[in-house]
Amino acid sequence: MAYTIAEPCIGTKDTACVDVCPVDCIHPGKNEPGYDIVEQLYINPEECIDCGACVPACPVEAIFPNDEVPEKWAFYIEKNADYYALSAAEFQAKWNSPKPE
Ligand code: SF4
Repeated sequence: MAYTIAEPCIGTKDTACVDVCPVDCIHPGKNEPGYDIVEQLYINPEECIDCGACVPACPVEAIFPNDEVPEKWAFYIEKNADYYALSAAEFQAKWNSPKPE
């Protein structure tokens, strides 16, 4: 499965989740290129080990196991995966959302 970061992260970008993730699969962190331009953080579903540590760390309750993402935010599952699968240009075109080159 994997976990997904949804809408409450937009404009928040608290990085407590990055700090607690044991496999470093949440990006971009505060010190990574692109942190300033992205609208939210994203979980790499290929690397997430479903530990759940990021859920209580998030101050705005933006993170869910994929099978518990609220229906209205279900598309964030694909958006998180696309952040890692698509080029910056492709991601921008599909989601109208910035990704660093
Ligand atoms: Fe990282 Fe665990 Fe959250 Fe997956 S569930 S993003 S491995 S902290």
